Amino acid sequence: MKKNEFHTPVIENKTIEELSAELLIKSKQLSDANLNLQMEQKERKEMLSNISHDLRAPITAIRNAIDYLNSGHTTDINDYISFVKLIDRRTKTLENLIHDMYYLFCVEDDSKELDYQIVPAFPFLEEYYYDALADSKYDNKVLELDIPDTLECNIRIDVQKMIRVLDNLFTNAAKYSNDGAMITLKACLNNTNERLLICVEDTGIGIPKDSLPHIFNRTYTVCDARTPEGVTGSGLGLSIVKAIVERMDGLITCESTEGKGSTFCIELPVI
Ligand code: ADP
Repeated sequence: MKKNEFHTPVIENKTIEELSAELLIKSKQLSDANLNLQMEQKERKEMLSNISHDLRAPITAIRNAIDYLNSGHTTDINDYISFVKLIDRRTKTLENLIHDMYYLFCVEDDSKELDYQIVPAFPFLEEYYYDALADSKYDNKVLELDIPDTLECNIRIDVQKMIRVLDNLFTNAAKYSNDGAMITLKACLNNTNERLLICVEDTGIGIPKDSLPHIFNRTYTVCDARTPEGVTGSGLGLSIVKAIVERMDGLITCESTEGKGSTFCIELPVI
């Protein structure tokens, strides 16, 4: 080698330029992952704060009712009955919340395997629909099934979890709609026949545009004032739906128009 001759260093068959480009990509990936982590931490903090708020409200109501009954301020049997009913209602709210929280934590725990089975989509969805039709909970709604009987494909699902997904969507469709509203279960293949689309469509109250991006967040409940009377949810229903669908390699989206209704669409890979 001649004196002062410069050779571009090569490490593992890569030039400095190639290594710098790789480093840049890696550093971008790292900063994206960091951002995701920060967002997840923020969401978890918000969830804990929302959950402790949601737990406190019924506990305070129960505590006040018990204190009142213990204070001897009333001997009226009707008073006793109405306070016991209030305690019963609030206890049910607590039970639902605790049950849903535990369910969500279990579904999100990747170390817990789902009970996967390969099932034909049409019979599975048809059976779900006829079970819902027989359920008195939907007596004041009009249920419809809109699936071509030519639909022939298999999906890999945890059957019980998928039933939970449909239950949550159907329950919401019924909860957020008036008597006589329609709830339709639809399904079809996408244009490449690689994904199955399952939709639950309702003609209910719909969701405001600015709330739509948040409805799958943990404990997000659209403004209480819009919630129909007597409806108490844990606010975790759609987070549970999303967590289950994503664990089955699926995707869930929602389109909604206030006053007209909502459509929740699940996309699952076809096997
Ligand atoms: P919850 O029903 O317990 O509040 P969810 O996670 O199931 O919690 O739903 C989040 C919010 O999304 C609800 O509070 C409701 O306002 C809105 N929502 C969900 N499904 C529907 C629907 N089919 N129609 C109108 N609003 C809905």
